Amino acid sequence: MSDTNAETDLAERAARLDALDGLAKLRERFTLPDGVVYLDGNSLGALPAAVPDALTDVVRRQWGELLIRSWDESGWWTAPERIGDLIAPLVGAAPGQVTVGDSTSVNLFKALVGAARMAAPGRTKLLVDATTFPTDGYIAGSAARLTGLDLVPVDPADAPGAFDGDTAVVLLNHVDYRSGRLHDLPGLTAAAHAAGALIVWDLCHSAGALPVGLDAHGVDLAVGCTYKYLNGGPGSPAYVYVAARHQGAFDSPLPGWNSHREPFAMTPGYEPAEGAARARVGTPDILSMLALESALGVWEGVAVEDVRAKSLALTDFFLECVARYVPEGKVEVVTPAGHAERGSQVSLRTEGAREVMAELISRGVVGDFRAPDVLRFGFTPLYVGFADAERAARTLGHVFG
Ligand SMILES: *Cc1c(COP(=O)(O)O)cnc(C)c1O
Repeated sequence: MSDTNAETDLAERAARLDALDGLAKLRERFTLPDGVVYLDGNSLGALPAAVPDALTDVVRRQWGELLIRSWDESGWWTAPERIGDLIAPLVGAAPGQVTVGDSTSVNLFKALVGAARMAAPGRTKLLVDATTFPTDGYIAGSAARLTGLDLVPVDPADAPGAFDGDTAVVLLNHVDYRSGRLHDLPGLTAAAHAAGALIVWDLCHSAGALPVGLDAHGVDLAVGCTYKYLNGGPGSPAYVYVAARHQGAFDSPLPGWNSHREPFAMTPGYEPAEGAARARVGTPDILSMLALESALGVWEGVAVEDVRAKSLALTDFFLECVARYVPEGKVEVVTPAGHAERGSQVSLRTEGAREVMAELISRGVVGDFRAPDVLRFGFTPLYVGFADAERAARTLGHVFG
C-alpha cells in the first residue's frame, strides 16, 4: 500500500473510532489550543475549562471580600481532606485516607519515613526502584539515612525475588515514567506483605489513567502528583494515602501544626490528629489547591475503567500508525506491547530524539523528550482522540522524511 493509501485508510479508521468513542465529548470540558495535538498530559495536564472562573472567584470573592473568614466560610481549612476525598475514588480508596498538599517529593518523604517507623523491628533495608524518577531515589536515600536503613536499588523486574526478611519498606512506581511500563501492583503488594514488609506506591503516572485499587489490594501507603493525568495545573499540590489501618501508628516526620489534634489550641506539646489530617504539615497553598478542586470536576460521571479502555485503544492505534508511517528501523518501541504491562504513554527510542521532538512540536504535535534518547507520547483519554493519534504518528513519519 502506498503512503497515501495508508494515510487515507488510517485517517478513516480514526474518524470511525472517534465517532464511536463514548468519552469523546469530555474534550469540551477542557480548553486546548486549536491545531495542536497535545500528547504531554503525562507531564502537565490540559486546562479544564471551569478552572479560570473558579480561580477568579477564589481570588476576588473568597480572598478579596471574605478575607480571613474564608478559612472557615469558604472551606479553606478543610480543603486538604475534602479534595483528598475527590481523588480517593480515582485511586480506589474509601474516604478519609487521602490528604492533598505539598509536592510529591515531600509526600514521598513523609510516606517513607512514616513507613520505616512502622516497619517490623530489626529490619534493615529500604528497597527502591532502581529505574525510578530521580526524586524518588534521592528522597528514599535520605529517608534511609535518617531511619538507619540501607538503601537497596532493585530493578522492578527482579522485585519480588528481592523481598526478604530484612526488608522494612519497598518503594515502587506503578508506571515507569520513562518506558511507560505498568508494574503489577496487586502481585508486588502481596509479595511485599508475604515478606513482612510495607509497600509505598508512587502513582504519578497511573492515577487518572487507569484503575489503581489501593484499598482492594491492601496497599499501605501511596503518593502521587496532580498536575499530570489529574490536570490540577502547574505545581498543583500532590497527595498522600495512608491506609486507615495504619493511620493510628503513622508517625509523620513533618508534624506541623496543621496535623495537630487541636491546631488552634496552640499548645507546645504535639498530639497528632486522627485520620487523614495526620499527614498534613503547614498552611495549605489554597490557590493551587482550589484550582485542583475545580479541575477534578472533569471526572463527574466518568468511570476510570472506561478511561483505561480508551487509553489502551489509543495506544494500540498509535503503535499501529507508527508501524505504518515511520520508516523501518527509525524508532524502537520501548513501551511493552502487552496491555497488562502498559500505562498510558508510548515511548519510542530514536537517534537524535531531542531534535526529533523539537521538530514534532514545531509541527503542532506536542510530546516530550527524556534523556538520553526517548520520545514520550502521553495519551490522556479525557481530551485526546484517535485522529490526534493518527496525526501524531503521520507527522512523526514525515519528520523522518
Ligand atoms: C512527576 C513525578 C514526580 C514529581 O515530583 P514533584 O515533587 O512534584 O516535583 C515524582 N515522582 C514521579 C515518579 C513522577 O513521575
